[in-house]
Amino acid sequence: VVALGMPTRSVDTTCAYCGVGCSFRAEVQGDGDDSQVVRMIPSKNGGANEGHSCVKGRFAYGYAAHKDRQLSPMVRDTIDDEWRKVSWEEAIAKVATGFQALQAEHGVGAIGGISSSRCTNEEVYVVQKLVRAAFGNNNIDTCARVCHSPTGYGLKQTFGTSAGTQDFKSVEKSDAILLIGANPTDAHPVFASRMKKRLREGARLIVADPRRIDLVRSPHVEAAHHLAVLPGSNVAFVNAMAHVIVTEGLHDAAFVQERCEDADEYLAFIADPAHSPEATAEVTGLDPDELRAAARLFASVPNGAIYYGLGVTEHSQGSTMVMGMANLAMVTGNIGREGVGVNPLRGQNNVQGSCDMGSFPHEFPGYRHVSDGDTRAIYESLWGKSLDPEPGLRIPNMFDSALAGSFRGLYVQGEDIAQSDPNTQHVEAALRAMDLVVVQDLFLNETARFAHVFLPGTSFLEKDGTFTNAERRINRVRPVFSSKVGLDEWAITCAIGQAMGYDMSYDSASEIMDEIAATTPTFAGVSFDRLDELGSMQWPVFDDSSTGTPIMHVDGFVRGKGKLIETVFVPTTERSTRKFPLILTTGRILSQYNVGAQTRRTANNTWHPEDVLEIHPADAEVRGISTGDLVDLSSRVGSTTLRAMVSERMPAGVVYTTFHHPVTGANVVTTENSDWATNCPEYKVTAVQVGVANQR
Ligand code: SF4
Repeated sequence: VVALGMPTRSVDTTCAYCGVGCSFRAEVQGDGDDSQVVRMIPSKNGGANEGHSCVKGRFAYGYAAHKDRQLSPMVRDTIDDEWRKVSWEEAIAKVATGFQALQAEHGVGAIGGISSSRCTNEEVYVVQKLVRAAFGNNNIDTCARVCHSPTGYGLKQTFGTSAGTQDFKSVEKSDAILLIGANPTDAHPVFASRMKKRLREGARLIVADPRRIDLVRSPHVEAAHHLAVLPGSNVAFVNAMAHVIVTEGLHDAAFVQERCEDADEYLAFIADPAHSPEATAEVTGLDPDELRAAARLFASVPNGAIYYGLGVTEHSQGSTMVMGMANLAMVTGNIGREGVGVNPLRGQNNVQGSCDMGSFPHEFPGYRHVSDGDTRAIYESLWGKSLDPEPGLRIPNMFDSALAGSFRGLYVQGEDIAQSDPNTQHVEAALRAMDLVVVQDLFLNETARFAHVFLPGTSFLEKDGTFTNAERRINRVRPVFSSKVGLDEWAITCAIGQAMGYDMSYDSASEIMDEIAATTPTFAGVSFDRLDELGSMQWPVFDDSSTGTPIMHVDGFVRGKGKLIETVFVPTTERSTRKFPLILTTGRILSQYNVGAQTRRTANNTWHPEDVLEIHPADAEVRGISTGDLVDLSSRVGSTTLRAMVSERMPAGVVYTTFHHPVTGANVVTTENSDWATNCPEYKVTAVQVGVANQR
């Protein structure tokens, strides 16, 4: 059921939830401030969705007009004070003078910013520009730090660029799909439908996931293999797959020799019997015969594709696992054509874009390192500032530095780090330790509890700009209404820069994209006019004659040859113990999105009003737990209480929950462990105990 009413106008735009990036026509009733969206119609010509949508996207307009929406800037002296509504001028002045005072007292590096993967490319670009040019440091990071930063690192090392290799349509040519650590029917529903269609046509599916997700067996779809890989053993698993393929001579020797680097070393490494399914069975929890059968299946089809999610990246070896999957694709020759590839299913609508736009402390837009003098010279010339050649602080470093006293001020755009980041107690202590926390958001989220300035942001229905989805597709976002807070989100960021004495201003979002195109080779042919004409484009778009690049690495890898890397399995230090004998892993549910700040304020909340702990019947029985019981979930860093659901979806010894609600807060128990290369938190492996609430 959708809101009723005859629309009087419509606007073509893009869903602001997941990385599928569905195109919609927003139908609106009325004009001016009183107008309202009455329905969202998925666009038949949408490159990512071709007329389909999910329950999240259809109701997304609900949160934009929710009564919790904050429309006025607010300030307070301490986090114990009441908020006081003020003018934009007063709020911006407090931010600017506060940040300047902190830098004067504690140094240039005492402040930083976090950009949002829910904001547009243009909004993110100006945040990283604010930090690099106005703050004068590289203390800029993004929420991709806590989700797909290992994707960026691993794919850059192996293929040469930090992005997935295919367009979504490519799955229609896949003969076997290896789905690792992803649950697309809940997290990426429209792409899941596309995948299921191909599976119904006869493609084979291998699911590697500790949880028996819907795709293992659902109407008309049944996986050929479900490999219930134990949390923390992904690298041992992917190495075992490659071991079988190489030692049984099933690899694509010609592709490996012609297109890959370090082939001999890698083939010798992976052929070591220590990587065999039998030798790794205890670690992975997998039946060696079933793993062998899955490996043979993947290697035997003309087109084998790998799709994956946060069950790959959010581990202490997340980056190693991404490289392991790239190895697997290369040894089977599954790169550079339709139906194959290594495909990250990105979580947030613009997580690809926020990475592309230079939100990392070590990279300018287009993934160019800050130490690269030629790239720095481009921006120094345009921005009129000398830029720092040293990488800045990552989000976890910001927290640690705050607790050490050297990091004192933070500008957070559209992220709820107090709920989404691991070890909530640590994050809250770090936020409390800062002198000036500025939150820019739609709602007074959990992070705003620690803020001194609140700057109201704009919803996707008020934005003019672009989002880039998981297949590198740059989609237009068009305003249905003018900004309900009086300023565009990018203009708020620019106002902070101006107030700090740095001249940054634009007349429009289109002008910001023109600056991005002028300075970023992979976006050189992108402009609002061309996007409006073509509908969308997939980067790289090297010039105005290009319409984009659906498939990458066709004739050669971006880095020249693909690099085969010896992916040594190193077990996580997070192990089950007598005190914490179970392993917790986390995921998402269809009707909710991330920390739920948006979906909890729409009709979607009626379908999943609380987080639930799934527990195997054997683990439940010994603890006296029945479905519906309130249980305590505790780890070495914290504890929370939530409702139990006894379920055979989980293997014995592993429990599962979502993280959509602040009250139940799964991140109260997740730890500080993180990926060795990128600091992406190890959300997927936490040793825990579970007991009936108040009875343990
Ligand atoms: Fe499409 Fe994702 Fe939005 Fe659903 S949430 S409509 S799959 S972009």
